[in-house]
Amino acid sequence: MAKIGEVFSSAAAIAKGMGITFREMLQPAITEEYPDAPAEVAPRYRGAHVLQRDENGLEKCVACFLCAAACPANCIYIEAAENTEQQRFSAAERYAKVYNIDYNRCIFCGFCVEACPTDAITHGHGFELASYNTSTLIYRKEQMLVHLPESGNPPPSQSNPLPVGAEPLRTR
Ligand code: SF4
Ligand code: SF4
Repeated sequence: MAKIGEVFSSAAAIAKGMGITFREMLQPAITEEYPDAPAEVAPRYRGAHVLQRDENGLEKCVACFLCAAACPANCIYIEAAENTEQQRFSAAERYAKVYNIDYNRCIFCGFCVEACPTDAITHGHGFELASYNTSTLIYRKEQMLVHLPESGNPPPSQSNPLPVGAEPLRTR
């Protein structure tokens, strides 16, 4: 009797699986046209980092090193410097004179983003980081910092500023 029960439950499982298969067969096919068309990523996708600016265009990073301390891959390198009356880069006392992320090591865990007290570092949607030259995978601050437009204030945040000398990232 137990054997007959097993046969019925197996048949039911197969019928259920085939039902899903046939239902999917009737759905319209979805084809990603990447790289001919921009790739669509989830809104919370963790891509290449972006260093944000505040509403006055100043850098949000205050060189507190918390992101570097939180990074399990030890791939963030920062050199801090003091703002002066003549030259101000951030709203606080210090700013990051040098801010590098080594994408040879980064595992896109997001710990740096979580650790940042000023929301200065965020994940963008850039994912086209592959390179034959590993030295190009060390991104500098100038590549990650939201660019100031020539006129007016910058947008409050930006998901993918262009790396210096790089092709535009294919993101939406
Ligand atoms: S995403 Fe993770 S591994 Fe990459 S820089 Fe941030 S903390 Fe380090
Ligand atoms: S990105 Fe954030 S956590 Fe990292 S040094 Fe700058 S302010 Fe501190």
